[in-house]
Amino acid sequence: MQDQNTAATPTTTAGRSVLVTGGNRGIGLAIAQSFLAAGDKVAITYRSGEVPEGMLGVRADVTSSEEIDTAFREVEEAHGPVEVLVANAGITRDTLLLRMSEEDFTDVIDTNLTGSFRVIKRASRGMLRLRKGRVILISSVTGLYGSPGQINYSASKAGLVGIARSLTRELGSRGITANVVAPGFINTDMTAALPEETQKNYLSSIPAGRFAEATEVANVVRWVASDEAAYISGAVIPVDGGLGMGH
Ligand code: NDP
Repeated sequence: MQDQNTAATPTTTAGRSVLVTGGNRGIGLAIAQSFLAAGDKVAITYRSGEVPEGMLGVRADVTSSEEIDTAFREVEEAHGPVEVLVANAGITRDTLLLRMSEEDFTDVIDTNLTGSFRVIKRASRGMLRLRKGRVILISSVTGLYGSPGQINYSASKAGLVGIARSLTRELGSRGITANVVAPGFINTDMTAALPEETQKNYLSSIPAGRFAEATEVANVVRWVASDEAAYISGAVIPVDGGLGMGH
């Protein structure tokens, strides 16, 4: 065991095979760029738009196990087994409970929660063979804090905590960690779509007094995937300017 009074020298984690779902824009893009800048081999899943420079783009919808499998094969062929998986792809279908259709609910669960399950299950094969891996699930402050009009979304994001913690208990002894990063209000297309009034209400309850940029989430994700964070697993790490107060 390492002497706990001695600071560990961080070993290099560059050159790993990293896959970010929904890495073509928003938070996913910032995360992918951050790993790329650190020297990792980065692949992203995308459904639309362009593949950012320097990355491998694999077309996949996380609601399809077949598309995910094909995407993983492409990544494995080009970069080797995925060692760092960031389950980031997500959607909202906000509306109050009485107006929320069953489809509004199940669509969000299928993408955010079951979609994460699908990619994690596929990635775990390679990680078990490597006997190491990092799974990072992008949840949300609303998963544990709750939010009116987001019963579907908060349920999907709270579910990710259960996945990370059960995964930690199942695969923790195989060198695999699973953690949740829970952003607060980040400036992306998703939040730009919110009504001005909702944005104002959020702002007034954020102790930091501002919204965040996607790079602020990306920095934390990259660190959680680094050797320095090797002993963190099953954790929920907020990046929310104090909005959720450590929930
Ligand atoms: P954006 O709406 O900007 O981007 C969403 C990304 O998810 C896009 O790349 C999109 O791909 C992808 N995606 C959506 N559905 C699917 C699908 N079925 N299959 C594959 N990819 C899909 O969102 P953000 O960048 O803001 O959010 C990223 C993550 O962070 C989400 O999980 C979100 O819930 C979470 N989050 C965001 C917060 C914020 O304030 N912005 C706060 C807390 C959490 P495409 O371009 O093809 O549509």
